[in-house]
Amino acid sequence: MPGMDGIEVCRRLKSNPALADIPVIFVTAHSEPADEVAALAAGGVDFIAKPVNPVVVRARGKTHLTLKAQTDLLHSMVFIDGLTGVANRRRFDEVLQIEWHRCRRSNKPLTLLMIDIDHFKRYNDHYGHQAGDACLQQVAAGLKAGLKRAQDLVARYGGEEFVCLMPECDHPAGQTKAEELRAAVAALGIAHADSPTASCVTLSIGVAVVQPSSANNPEALIAAADAALYEAKRNGRNRVSVSAVL
Ligand code: GH3
Ligand code: MG
Ligand code: MG
Repeated sequence: MPGMDGIEVCRRLKSNPALADIPVIFVTAHSEPADEVAALAAGGVDFIAKPVNPVVVRARGKTHLTLKAQTDLLHSMVFIDGLTGVANRRRFDEVLQIEWHRCRRSNKPLTLLMIDIDHFKRYNDHYGHQAGDACLQQVAAGLKAGLKRAQDLVARYGGEEFVCLMPECDHPAGQTKAEELRAAVAALGIAHADSPTASCVTLSIGVAVVQPSSANNPEALIAAADAALYEAKRNGRNRVSVSAVL
């Protein structure tokens, strides 16, 4: 290969998170065991020496595509909430750790929104559990549509609670985003005849912003967002409340 050899191409693919999961099969004229070891060490999944037999290449390609599809399926079962299709709690916990350390290194703020559907028990009691499930799906989709940056994450935190994690998002921006999301979900106009708060499904949102450092931790960020959410509920629901700076 001119300019860059296959080992280096593979290494670079593997170092890019967006490309790292692509299975790479080396097809090469170099057939020494050391070449094979180097290819596999660089992240290749397979090694085929030239001259190639097309049937063998096709069969091995098929094997790796099957393995990749199975890995993707497993990944989605482990990290995606089955009902709403957004990230699940496990994924959120993982991303929170990653973003915490990333923002700490780059000295950037990290914002967490704790989001809870208002009077959702009444919604279930009034419309039935299946309608409740459909409502959760619509709310999740509304939140996801409202987050436009690639690094923002929406996850289902528990029953009718969601979180949005927004790296490099400061206090005013976090509050503005929370208000936008609250308004966007209210604008979906999902009827909630039994809600004492409004005629449609509404959200209460707690906002917490932190500059990650050795003086604080992810658990404190969650606790602060939770406390702000409690404030939003206490002050009448269908509103955003911001925590004191951590
Ligand atoms: P508040 O405004 O104080 O948040 O009141 P609430 O009724 O929303 O809160 P509460 O915690 O009393 O009720 C939450 C309800 O969410 C009860 C539970 O049955 C429902 N729920 C949790 N998970 C699911 C789910 O996956 N599907 C459906 N349909 N309902 C769920
Ligand atoms: Mg709740
Ligand atoms: Mg609720």
